Amino acid sequence: MILVLGGTAEARELAAALDRAGIRVISSLAGRVANPRLPVGEVRVGGFGGPAALADWLRAHKIAAVLDATHPFAQRISASAAAACPAAGVPLLRLERPGWTERPGDRWHRVADLAAAAALIPSLGRRVLLTTGRQGLDAFAALAESWFLIRCVEEPRPPLPLQNEVLLDRGPYSLAGELALIDRHRIDLVVTKDSGGRLTQAKLDAARARGLAVIVVDRPPGAGVPTVVSVAEAFSWARAKGP
Ligand code: NAP
Repeated sequence: MILVLGGTAEARELAAALDRAGIRVISSLAGRVANPRLPVGEVRVGGFGGPAALADWLRAHKIAAVLDATHPFAQRISASAAAACPAAGVPLLRLERPGWTERPGDRWHRVADLAAAAALIPSLGRRVLLTTGRQGLDAFAALAESWFLIRCVEEPRPPLPLQNEVLLDRGPYSLAGELALIDRHRIDLVVTKDSGGRLTQAKLDAARARGLAVIVVDRPPGAGVPTVVSVAEAFSWARAKGP
């Protein structure tokens, strides 16, 4: 049995490929989203209770290998897997999609974290499309002069910036849709994590087309685990680990 730590499109693709190949797979979701997109195959939901509990879970379920296909910014579960797998004697591979790269015409400002993004906002724009997700929005709460269109999957919890509108939505997003959103709300600045991937890339294309500045929050450091960037590579590795 292969464990896929999920919550991403790549994790769902991987689970589907393993299932199609007749390899037993169980996908794990954190349980943050009320109506998650479910992978095919077996699914479990909720935290494991930290690295030691995850190691126990791996042993108890006779897991042959773990694929950490969680989001590039899901730092704690990746660190947990990096500690638990060696402890349980289970091989671990990280599947992480490449980050986005700046293209001609882009006006990107890379920053280390959400606090640095917040510090930069007043000098770059007044009407902000904020797409960094529901967690960590308190970093922007003190920015009283800027207006925020906060787009996220689930209703965010306060504290939020004083002037805001919440848009509950989930990708994939199209270029036409992103351009229309930017124009309708007179957005002059986009703030994003460097999540990478095709599904949410259109905001960057739209920002380039409209000449807007973009603040890109860099990924946190990884857990030092062997890493591949494609579902195909992860599939080959998992298939070699057995049924
Ligand atoms: P996180 O900070 O790394 O994880 C916090 C805790 O949630 C972990 O310590 C773990 O609890 C539990 N957890 C996280 N992912 C899990 C999984 N796949 N299966 C079981 N437990 C999990 O993660 P996060 O940033 O809150 O992200 C949560 C989930 O949303 C992840 O699965 C990730 O792939 C997905 N996601 C995250 C982002 C993002 O921007 N962070 C964006 C899109 C999707 P225990 O310590 O109790 O095991």
